[in-house]
Amino acid sequence: MITVDRIATLRATLDAARRADRTVGFVPTMGALHAGHLSLVQAARAAHDVVVVSVFVNPLQFNNPADLKRYPRDLAADAALADAAAVDVLFAPSGAEMYPAGAPVTTVSVGQLTDRLCGASRLGHFDGVATVVAKLFAIASPCTAYFGKKDFQQLAVVTRLARDLNLPVEVVGCPLVREPDGLAMSSRNVHLDTAPRRAATILYRGLVTGAKAVMGGERDPAALRRLVANLITSDDAVRLEYAEVLDAVELTPLESLRGDVLVAVAAHVGATRLIDNVTIHIDDSGAVTADLGVIAGPESEAPCSAR
Ligand code: AMP
Repeated sequence: MITVDRIATLRATLDAARRADRTVGFVPTMGALHAGHLSLVQAARAAHDVVVVSVFVNPLQFNNPADLKRYPRDLAADAALADAAAVDVLFAPSGAEMYPAGAPVTTVSVGQLTDRLCGASRLGHFDGVATVVAKLFAIASPCTAYFGKKDFQQLAVVTRLARDLNLPVEVVGCPLVREPDGLAMSSRNVHLDTAPRRAATILYRGLVTGAKAVMGGERDPAALRRLVANLITSDDAVRLEYAEVLDAVELTPLESLRGDVLVAVAAHVGATRLIDNVTIHIDDSGAVTADLGVIAGPESEAPCSAR
């Protein structure tokens, strides 16, 4: 594995690979790598000749300076994990390399899809995400880029960004990876001490309860939302930011539950903000399937089930 901190070097490396008919799989991250990130690397590794992981804590997408400051950073550990996962190129640019003139004058905004969920509570967040992802795509493409369903709204935003701007990037969504007790893996979990760590599992339990209710026949989005929100707020250690039930494609409200449904939650446990989601498919015959992601395991990843 080589570690590259200059845009020009990464471009030259990938251009040479593509000239030799080698395809590029790209995994953008903010570092503090864990098994969730590594599952994206695995997907890229399985399909491409050259795998690139970027590590860049993008200041543009943080609307809270304290959150940016305490975001975990450990490039040496990331490099060791990436190397062990057979990554070819680790791209770790500085802030000055990515934004030489400070915050860019040109930014990218993805409408509608960012109106709700994290877009509503973290103003400007998705402009920051879309802008840095557009830059990363401009640097690394043509390529296939891998994103996790853990950040479901982000996946929707970058998929739409690539499509609307005709970027030569295929965006692939990968399963949400969970700890054995159901907590969605996140770089932010390192901030959770024992008691908050235990409390944090209520997000997953709330989503499982919601999925089971739909399997049991619940079809009212408002009732489903209330059920999930009430369960999560039953723990005083957890402050719910939102619980929403939306169309999983357009991220808009639903009159009744059918088709692809997203149940997404955000909550604060102490100073740590966590997000989680489940997608539920209700077909025309009324059959229900829920996608809660997979449990991380040493050998393989087992699908989570709400049954
Ligand atoms: P981040 O470093 O948190 O910006 O995440 C980088 C990429 O890893 C994004 O595409 C995330 O959706 C993905 N990711 C983070 N956590 C998980 C997880 N638990 N399961 C699957 N993908 C994840």
